Amino acid sequence: MTNETWGLVREELIKRVGRTNYATWIEPLKLSHLRNGVARFEVPTSFFGDWVNRNFADHIRAQLNTAGAQVERVEFTVSDRPAAPAPAAAAAPAPATKAKPARSADAEDMPGAPLDARFTFDSFVVGKPNELAHAAARRVAEGGPVTFNPLFLYGGVGLGKTHLMHAIAHELQARQPHLRVLYLSAEQFMYRFVQALRERQIMDFKELFRSVDVLMVDDVQFIAGKDSTQEEFFHTFNALVDQNKQIVISADRAPGEIKDLEDRIKSRLQCGLVVDLHPTDYELRLGILQQKVELYRSQYKGLAISDGVLEFLAHRITTNVRVLEGALTRLFAFASLVGREITLELAQDCLADILRASDRKLTIEEIQRKVAEHYNIRLSDMIGPKRVRTIARPRQIAMYLAKQLTPRSLPEIGRRFGGRDHTTIMHGVRKIEELMATDSQLNDDLQMLRRLLQG
Ligand code: ADP
Ligand code: MG
Repeated sequence: MTNETWGLVREELIKRVGRTNYATWIEPLKLSHLRNGVARFEVPTSFFGDWVNRNFADHIRAQLNTAGAQVERVEFTVSDRPAAPAPAAAAAPAPATKAKPARSADAEDMPGAPLDARFTFDSFVVGKPNELAHAAARRVAEGGPVTFNPLFLYGGVGLGKTHLMHAIAHELQARQPHLRVLYLSAEQFMYRFVQALRERQIMDFKELFRSVDVLMVDDVQFIAGKDSTQEEFFHTFNALVDQNKQIVISADRAPGEIKDLEDRIKSRLQCGLVVDLHPTDYELRLGILQQKVELYRSQYKGLAISDGVLEFLAHRITTNVRVLEGALTRLFAFASLVGREITLELAQDCLADILRASDRKLTIEEIQRKVAEHYNIRLSDMIGPKRVRTIARPRQIAMYLAKQLTPRSLPEIGRRFGGRDHTTIMHGVRKIEELMATDSQLNDDLQMLRRLLQG
């Protein structure tokens, strides 16, 4: 069986099991052996194999047979290579593989990337950190007269840039099916360009890219330092702007901060509207989780998750939305597999690796620095011996936050506070807890510091 056949089988499986299940459970599978009626797949963990076996083995076998493979049994073995797809990655819905092509009518000659059907405006949760980006995307999606060109969206990994771009494309195509909307990543742009050069079809390439009505290029930072691709991008960009065609660009940072990007491109990119997606805040994360739970409700009938668990996740997993979604997916799958209620303990158990990775983000040093800044004392005083209240109190606050926001033990925290004894740390933590009951200023301070530290 060739890889192409397995590719076709996978396509078919998407239809059978749904996109989320596919991305979570089928995509990470590696076909390692197909002989004597046995198809063997490598899986990242035994839990994973177990789950796929129970839920999808029949589908997989059926589809393999439809593709002519004559399989009687499907097996799953844990791969002995050092867990390549980490459980977190495996459980997180992977990026779309193949979905609706970005252009319906003559999809064959539109070199766009497929759009993920899940990435719509409906499924995009709006909060303070992304409201501007969302509003700008909405405006472009209305398809009215071009008012800002390009729309440049930027922000860290997993904050919703690709989601918003796909949402724009979906919306435009629903409203104005005649529009030629082309979405692709900067990497694909480069790939197409190089291919056109190699096959001496550069004129076709230029014509194609200049004939679209809306061009969307994702992750444009990728072309930094790639000279001829930048050059071509620049010309394409200008040609479209001259024709008053809408352009939407995303990147992981602001135009001026992309290293090795030509200055003339930078300034071109800054000509339109530049908006950033800020790191998520607690409310947004909670909102996204609640939305996801709604979606899962039909899939995992009877499995409830309490607000407490959602709040816990929103507090603890602050890195990016993809990780947050992956955590929830895994939690539901795990709970339904072991037939247990989703409790806080189950979440801590099942998500230990994700929680740990998320925690690692925040160090005691960072806490000390932020607290020192906030109270206008020196960082060295956090560690030093001074006992005056104006210094000792902030120090205790930092101890308290270190205990709360990091997984470090009291002795470990003590070491980072200039080698203090763990009983001193415990005393500090208790003191703050005591004061919290009566001191509202302290509570405000803590809330603000927590927000600053957790993004
Ligand atoms: P980026 O392109 O910025 O790295 P993506 O757009 O791929 O991030 O988003 C990562 C994942 O998080 C996707 O599954 C996306 O649907 C989800 N996501 C991000 N922001 C939101 C949001 N505001 N509401 C709902 N889902 C979101
Ligand atoms: Mg992206």
